[in-house]
Amino acid sequence: MSRKIFILIGPPASGKGTQAEMLSKKIKLPVVSAGDLLRYEEKAKSKIGKQASSIMSAGKLVPNEVVFKLLKKRSLKPDAKKGYIIDGFPRSKGQLDYLPKLVKKEDIVYAIEIMVNDKEVKSRINGRRVCKCGAAYHLKYKPSKKDGICDKCGKRIYIRDDDKPRVVSKRLKVYHKNSKSVLNYFIKIDKLIKVNGDQPIIKVHKDLIKEVKKIYDQID
Ligand code: AMP
Repeated sequence: MSRKIFILIGPPASGKGTQAEMLSKKIKLPVVSAGDLLRYEEKAKSKIGKQASSIMSAGKLVPNEVVFKLLKKRSLKPDAKKGYIIDGFPRSKGQLDYLPKLVKKEDIVYAIEIMVNDKEVKSRINGRRVCKCGAAYHLKYKPSKKDGICDKCGKRIYIRDDDKPRVVSKRLKVYHKNSKSVLNYFIKIDKLIKVNGDQPIIKVHKDLIKEVKKIYDQID
């Protein structure tokens, strides 16, 4: 059976994670997030987590083999039998070479690019706050009820290391340098969907679903 695999591509804070979750609810396929898998390892203080932690804090890319192994393991879980939505992989030409090891020949694979310009990315990240319990906030778009305190657990919320301005600039540089070859590959095989990410979340979702439905009509 061929699985349906959607790969979300976009700069940091393009809303990839949010859109992946919304798409997941709509088409009932799980999200496989490279960043989340790495953060899980980091929290668990596993060998991989310890190795990845400083790389992530610097806004650099964790070694391909490490990310690939985590994704491969996750993609083989029973809930991903019919397919899955990948958030954050492949992120470079080197990672593109791992794709055939992650997907089968008969799988239907599409990439979705969420386009957001750098200025908007910086302004979005500027207000981002997180809590150790996993809750996420934004000073402007999703403020906590009490200033600086998590609504869910009452702990102090903080800026993720890799959301600090200098690291954000680095992440953007890394994104532009590496994503080009990935996007070009999907353009070449005519499997790239482009969505304007510089719109309200619900509008981005609607545009994305409209495009995905066209594909589902073809493959269902
Ligand atoms: P994200 O949550 O997608 O913004 O990812 C956070 C960080 O995790 C990135 O800045 C990288 O350090 C690391 N990371 C996530 N995905 C990958 C990947 N495909 N390859 C290498 N590192 C990654």
